[in-house]
Amino acid sequence: MRIGFGFDSHEFKPGIPLKIGGVKLQAEPGLCGHSDGDVLLHAITDALLGAVAAGDIGAFFPPSDPKWKGANSVVFIEEAMRHIEQAGYRVGNVDCTLVLAAPKIGPHAKAIQERVAKLLKVETSAVGIKAKTPEGLNLDNTAVAHVVALLEKA
Ligand code: MG
Repeated sequence: MRIGFGFDSHEFKPGIPLKIGGVKLQAEPGLCGHSDGDVLLHAITDALLGAVAAGDIGAFFPPSDPKWKGANSVVFIEEAMRHIEQAGYRVGNVDCTLVLAAPKIGPHAKAIQERVAKLLKVETSAVGIKAKTPEGLNLDNTAVAHVVALLEKA
């Protein structure tokens, strides 16, 4: 077994769609970034890569490379999955904590869980989606994601 941890943060910006966990939420503002700003998929990608000591998302998909401008972050997950599979592992489970002031994640949690489970090739029961508001952190304009991933030998 291997364990990996991923963290990411992105800033909210008006006028762009909000994507979390590969799901486009009917909410404004969205998260800005070089790619589509999907804070959760980025943290999951880092957790997967970290679990096999493969480096980080920035090494695989450098923000300096125009190729990744506006990229769908699903591509990052798919590449990380290829990497762990080549290393002889599959995902056991992941647990995710989002920290953001708005929107409330509760109503979207199931859709995010199902999307992430599909991307990671696991049952929905192997994907924990939790969310908190950034009380006392002064981070109301930022979305943060923390993810731990457990990998099993394939
Ligand atoms: Mg990111």
